[in-house]
Amino acid sequence: MISVAQADQIISDAIKRSAPVVLPIDEVYGLVLAEDVVIDRNYPPFNKAIMDGIAINRASYDKGNRVFPIEGVQAAGIAQQKLKNEDGCYEIMTGAVVPEGCDWVIPVEKVVMQDGKAQVTEVDDNSFIRQEGIDGQKGTVVLNKGDVLTAPRIAVCVSVGKANVSVYPKISIAVVSTGDELVTPDKEVLPHQIRSSNDHFIKAALEKHNRAACTLFHFKDDAKELKVQLAALLDKYDCLVLSGGVSAGKFDLIPDVLKELSVECLFHKVLQKPGKPMWFGVSPKGQPVFGLPGNPVSTYTCSLRFIRKHLLSVECCLSAKSSVDFDATLDVTEYKMVKFINTNDGLCFEPIAFGGSGDLISIIQSDGFVEIPAEKECINKNDLLSVYAW
Ligand code: AMP
Ligand code: MG
Repeated sequence: MISVAQADQIISDAIKRSAPVVLPIDEVYGLVLAEDVVIDRNYPPFNKAIMDGIAINRASYDKGNRVFPIEGVQAAGIAQQKLKNEDGCYEIMTGAVVPEGCDWVIPVEKVVMQDGKAQVTEVDDNSFIRQEGIDGQKGTVVLNKGDVLTAPRIAVCVSVGKANVSVYPKISIAVVSTGDELVTPDKEVLPHQIRSSNDHFIKAALEKHNRAACTLFHFKDDAKELKVQLAALLDKYDCLVLSGGVSAGKFDLIPDVLKELSVECLFHKVLQKPGKPMWFGVSPKGQPVFGLPGNPVSTYTCSLRFIRKHLLSVECCLSAKSSVDFDATLDVTEYKMVKFINTNDGLCFEPIAFGGSGDLISIIQSDGFVEIPAEKECINKNDLLSVYAW
């Protein structure tokens, strides 16, 4: 059986990035840039007032002048005006171009305006002018290919004239839950049935970073039916994530069905707990197919640990210290449900009381899970480990 590190390697080698697409800026939050972004003009593009007040020629003040006739108003959005008298001033608003002939802004709080004149008692050392080009020079690369489009980066793209950007597109994922015992939440549930919830977890967890669009499906444990349905999904989606049907039971039909569809198995079973029966393969067209064990906690851990990390390139793990000592199983990578606690000593985690891999109720007390490396037999208080946050 392969280790978690080997599974990581196989998955990351198998996943190929899709071709870039050009999208409107308001559709790219969270996506990864596929081009460098260059500043199209100096930023700010003109000497800009950063306070409301008056704009003067500082030399006039230095000569002893304290009363400045107001020549006009320079509002934001108006082309640059010109000071005619070097001892005059312009009323100016935040965001406006500093008029030609002016090099100092005096905030309105320090000015008394009366009868068309502005009287000042003192000026600050600060000119309250943001000089043209001080934040960024025209032609400078401001964002690089590979950068994630966070909210500030989207704002920068717009500011430098990129209404559309080249990005790696969202990945379309068919999320399939399989099992005769499962019903969708809109249907009546009989005493021997359970509601299918794993698929909803997967959708929420994988769509969190806006790099995937998941569509949910539910199929019975019927090999013929599964083959027809999965073939149709492979025609339409970039990736398949299956929950259930990959363990050793009589109705765990997924591995055989995928084989019949020529999806090449790259591994089946990983030295991890929970999630040991995990299956991974690649279709003839190169689509990754993840087969996750149906136990809710196995589905949850595998989704974050492998799919979010490799398919969506989201590094969702944080380093945190254990707040307690606890035992671990040698030679198996373990995932334990934990909650974060903020201490004077930094970010720590604490394992929650938990009833095993079917206990989806207790999980709501957790913030995520800690990964305990296979070579550990015990964890000591203050050991630093990786925690994957929901
Ligand atoms: P399986 O991997 O198909 O053997 O399923 C293992 C366990 O997980 C069984 O108890 C299933 O009822 C449960 N299970 C499977 N799929 C889901 C699902 N979509 N939602 C909630 N529980 C599930
Ligand atoms: Mg099943």
